[in-house]
Amino acid sequence: MPAACVIGWPVEHSRSPLIHNYWLKACGVAGEYRREAVPPDQFGDFLQSLAARGYVGANLIFPHKEAALAWSEPDDRARAVGAANTLWLDGVLRATNTDVEGFLDNLDACAPDWDRSCETAVVLGAGGAARAVVYGLLERGTSRIVVINRTPQRAQAIQQWFGSRVSIAPWDERDHRLGGAKLLVNATKLGMPEQPELVLDISRLPADAAVADLVYVPLITPLLRAAMARNLRTADGLGMLLRQAVPQFHLWFGKRPEITGELRSLLEQNPVVPQPRSQE
Ligand code: NAP
Repeated sequence: MPAACVIGWPVEHSRSPLIHNYWLKACGVAGEYRREAVPPDQFGDFLQSLAARGYVGANLIFPHKEAALAWSEPDDRARAVGAANTLWLDGVLRATNTDVEGFLDNLDACAPDWDRSCETAVVLGAGGAARAVVYGLLERGTSRIVVINRTPQRAQAIQQWFGSRVSIAPWDERDHRLGGAKLLVNATKLGMPEQPELVLDISRLPADAAVADLVYVPLITPLLRAAMARNLRTADGLGMLLRQAVPQFHLWFGKRPEITGELRSLLEQNPVVPQPRSQE
């Protein structure tokens, strides 16, 4: 029976098992999808034993997205982003990044034509997810992207990677840098369970700005609530999560699944899914 998993550290919050197990049933595929909590120092060994564990592929969450490139054959997109969220076995271990299309498809659905007037975007965070966001924004023609991260070296690495359309600003200046930005994206972990809240004053954002939060637990984050209170257009993390998962399922199980209203309500009603029994 083909199996796939989500690999992270921590991984308990992941809703990917709920999504992929729903699709396995809906598409009539006899397969399994599990969670695997793997610390960074065991990540390489775990990937080398993926086939032996019965997996055809895996979904990567933090902190493994950037490290995965060293352990796999990344495609052009994963290489260009500098991070992978999807692995699959095809004789060798291959890697791609579906976060880019998940992010852009969701933004297009939630804030149509956001890119028409988006000269400046502010991205909070500089991890694997922020890389996918910056890559997607550049691909869609955003002229200026300001990356703001707690650890400046990581923001600098993104700037050097993507070039002159990306600039950086210190974490303490995040409120001030929002003036004139037509898009704000939270690609940090802030706002997730057991993480501090994202402290941010969005009053400087223009009235026609859009706000995207990649955090999907809780579904409506304080950032999205603040944006809604200002009648700004918003894109939640769950929409992105569902959209990035479609090509993954197709790669692992050979069928293109549908995002149904039933699946979305299932996710909204089930904050965290119990851990399926591990192979070990
Ligand atoms: P990551 O590589 O571990 O990066 C984490 C980011 O959060 C870094 O920029 C980090 O800053 C920042 N951060 C963590 N704690 C912080 C704190 N206390 N104060 C300020 N900044 C802090 O993780 P990732 O893979 O990029 O994921 C980031 C977020 O995106 C997570 O919430 C994840 O669930 C979400 N995500 C959602 C989707 C989706 O489909 N909705 C897809 C991918 C990711 P430092 O560099 O200073 O540590």
